[in-house]
Amino acid sequence: MDCITCGGPVNPQRWELGYHYCMQRNCLIANGISGRENYRLLLVPKQGFTIVHKDSPDLKHGKSSGRS
Ligand SMILES: [Zn+2]
Repeated sequence: MDCITCGGPVNPQRWELGYHYCMQRNCLIANGISGRENYRLLLVPKQGFTIVHKDSPDLKHGKSSGRS
């Protein structure tokens, strides 16, 4: 799970969601995230913030991690 921009580690969960880059600003910009309204910052317990698409099911679970 290496960032496609800097080669740094990418959270496997983010990778599975299709985000093949890390959270560094330069990498986010390089991958066109910055300034896009279709993405939302999501606070993930113990992992810090991640960026997900606004239609991601993660957002629809609200604050929970999806455990039901
Ligand atoms: Zn990176």
